[in-house]
Amino acid sequence: MLEADVAIVGAGAAGLSLAHRLSGRAPGARPLSAVLVDAPPGPLRPPRRTWCFWEQGRGRYDAAVTASWRRLRVRSPAGTVIEGDIAPLRYKMIRSDDFEHLVGHGLAGSGAVRCLEATVDGVEEVRDGALVHLRTPDGGPGLLHARWVFDSRPPGSLPAARTTLLQHFRGWFVRTERPVFDPGAAELMDFRTPQPATGLSFGYVLPTGRREALVEYTEFSPRVLPPDGYEAALRHYTRDVLRLGDLQVLSAETGVIPMTDAPRDREVGASVFRIGAAGGATRPSTGYTFAGLQRQTRAVAAALGRGRRPLPPPAHSVRARAMDAVLLRALDSGRVDGAALFSRLFARVPMRQLLLFLDGRTHLYEDLAIGLRTPVGPMLRSAVELPCLPRRPFTGP
Ligand SMILES: Cc1cc2nc3c(=O)[nH]c(=O)nc-3n(C[C@H](O)[C@H](O)[C@H](O)COP(=O)(O)OP(=O)(O)OC[C@H]3O[C@@H](n4cnc5c(N)ncnc54)[C@H](O)[C@@H]3O)c2cc1C
Repeated sequence: MLEADVAIVGAGAAGLSLAHRLSGRAPGARPLSAVLVDAPPGPLRPPRRTWCFWEQGRGRYDAAVTASWRRLRVRSPAGTVIEGDIAPLRYKMIRSDDFEHLVGHGLAGSGAVRCLEATVDGVEEVRDGALVHLRTPDGGPGLLHARWVFDSRPPGSLPAARTTLLQHFRGWFVRTERPVFDPGAAELMDFRTPQPATGLSFGYVLPTGRREALVEYTEFSPRVLPPDGYEAALRHYTRDVLRLGDLQVLSAETGVIPMTDAPRDREVGASVFRIGAAGGATRPSTGYTFAGLQRQTRAVAAALGRGRRPLPPPAHSVRARAMDAVLLRALDSGRVDGAALFSRLFARVPMRQLLLFLDGRTHLYEDLAIGLRTPVGPMLRSAVELPCLPRRPFTGP
């Protein structure tokens, strides 16, 4: 049986971030041994992805950043351009391969974290920690005993919620014939896409050069599209809206991120915790998760270093989740026009402030001021009815 102080289950964004933090021990912190377990290549391993987030100045993962922007753009359904300078913040893009490489390099140099390729079948709480039940790639059983376990495996089903929408998208990495992109600005939300009956849709453009960009079609809506639906939407967006001309699709990525007002349990037992998307790191109103899981893993590593019980903190405050629950309800009920709401919000609130709000770094009065920039009547009606709505199980995309 393997022994460690810490077992990290899953080497996605959360598991890797925690492993990276544990590999570089802060001065005075307790020495710890950790094992990072990830499923072998196959159906449990997510495909390559691109993560974006924002932060001020230099960050601990800058060596893996593909591109970053200081200017962000939003376009209303009518094409009105809203542009903001978010300095001193920067909007950063990291590809999961580069992140894995950076973290792997750090782990190899430290010796504090051992990586193990195995499928975790279950985690069992015992008196002095927990047992992680493993299956090695050749199918053999294994056991890992740890004082603390941090589990980032995606839960099998979504919790019952008052509202569950899905953020579902497909992106193409494109190279165009002509120099058509402005690498100085990222286009966060371009609402010139046809809008779905419930929720909203938008284009998202991350230019990495004059001729290269990641171009995505995204919906916040109750159901995913058939695969050819995304292809058709991307063809329409790149050809008829962006008018990119001839282009090559170099690669593609797809995602479905649940946007739910259900609380997530971070504490599974006395020694077992959930982190990452599984531990509620996703901001319900936007799907952004990377920054939330950084806050969680930073706090966990600090608690471990001080010898304290490392319960991951909530990634988002009660107030932020309550405001998001109202927005999700207003979108799902069709009471608000999502594209108009977001366009208006970006037009009336400085982008930097909206980003700080999404990170939970604004005061109550600032949050209220942001709330007043939304259609107040429909939002209030959604807020009033929320407590009376039952939490219903999600019946599937
Ligand atoms: C395509 C895509 C793009 C995204 N873009 C952004 C973005 O731009 N910004 C942002 O903030 N968020 C983004 N997100 C949301 C979120 O940041 C990601 O989903 C992120 O990967 C969540 O990290 P995680 O560690 O919680 O889960 P994951 O990264 O999914 O990691 C889970 C890990 O668990 C492992 N695993 C699963 N089952 C087992 C098992 N039985 N045994 C062992 N290991 C197992 C998997 O191999 C995987 O490594 C995106 C999501 C997707 C899908």
